[in-house]
Amino acid sequence: MRAHLQAALAKRRAASLYRRRRVHHAAQQPLLRLDGQDLLNFCSNDYLGLAAHPELRAALQQGATDYGCGAGASHLINGHSQAHHDLEEALAAYTGRERALLFSTGYMANLGVISALLERQDALFLDKWDHASLLDGAQLSRARLHRYPHQDMQQLARQLENHSARHKLIVTDGVFSMDGDIANLPALADLARAHEAWLLVDDAHGLGVLGATGRGSLEHYALDAEAVPVLVGTLGKAFGVFGAFVAGDADLIEYLIQTARSYIYTTALPPAVAVATRRALQLADTESWRRDTLRALIRQFRDGAAARGIPLMPSDTPIQGIILGDAEAALRLDAALFAAKLWVSAIRPPTVPQGSARLRITLTAAHTPEQVEYLLDTLAALLSLKKGGNGR
Ligand SMILES: *Cc1c(COP(=O)(O)O)cnc(C)c1O
Repeated sequence: MRAHLQAALAKRRAASLYRRRRVHHAAQQPLLRLDGQDLLNFCSNDYLGLAAHPELRAALQQGATDYGCGAGASHLINGHSQAHHDLEEALAAYTGRERALLFSTGYMANLGVISALLERQDALFLDKWDHASLLDGAQLSRARLHRYPHQDMQQLARQLENHSARHKLIVTDGVFSMDGDIANLPALADLARAHEAWLLVDDAHGLGVLGATGRGSLEHYALDAEAVPVLVGTLGKAFGVFGAFVAGDADLIEYLIQTARSYIYTTALPPAVAVATRRALQLADTESWRRDTLRALIRQFRDGAAARGIPLMPSDTPIQGIILGDAEAALRLDAALFAAKLWVSAIRPPTVPQGSARLRITLTAAHTPEQVEYLLDTLAALLSLKKGGNGR
């Protein structure tokens, strides 16, 4: 076995696809301490800057005082505490749905909901760039899988027309996690309606961020629960804590409680985490300035990049990509940024398609305009472009 593993690892290394972890020492925030130096962090998903919020720390501590550490069992045995129940009700209210069901992670929510809803005689339609957990859920369901080119509604329409499956489910990211573009949800909802398909939106990167009140990509497009009956959200990104949920009507949630294996056969998440998350939902609402700050930083970054000739992928969300092509170029730039004390992660295949290795920059409400300026100036210098310019 070892020889086999060593050969596989060597092959990855040779292809610039080897991944390694960097160890840091403190809370998730713009300045991170690592190997004795401070680094400016532009790669977390902590979009609202809540992960290190003093009130969330206090809520987590209070939750631990009240409930201890572990849940002790799965939800269906005796791990379902009042803290979990209250959070589910808060999530249902937050998303405007009848009910919500907590999962331990977004990965597990997607495995659970897709494999519960579909069987072998059904069909699934996924955007090519959907998150890996959606693809894994699709494969687990054993339904017939169709993948359409990224955001290609015509291809999807053709695939749907030619299908006689018993049930059809269209599955999409709300905000695509590696590109930052927003799915064309109105078109997807129309297609779902026209072809009697169900629609699942995984809004991991939209919730808390998009829309006037942060209700995500559905609010962005003013779509209701009828247009998108199955909504998946995660709690470890904009909400700064951990966990995930599925929101929908009461029958959907009751069906998932009975059948979603990644819900049933696993320990409930720590109740204190649920206590902290409920506080995070409130903060995401009451501290709406975080969304305003984030929007202003996104605008600053995009305007500054345009002025310096830095080629950004199209995106109005906190996820901003620069395509570099091959994995080696991405790694070189990653290393140069690191030397300039910037932590921006290079994303390589298989996370993104072959030949589209990139820098994935993420902005948060906790960044300052000065930090964003420094990032822009450094990127411009490293990409050998005009520095601090005023147009071309
Ligand atoms: C991060 C992410 C997930 C996984 O959520 P976790 O809670 O981190 O497991 C699922 N879907 C999308 C689109 C994501 O970006």
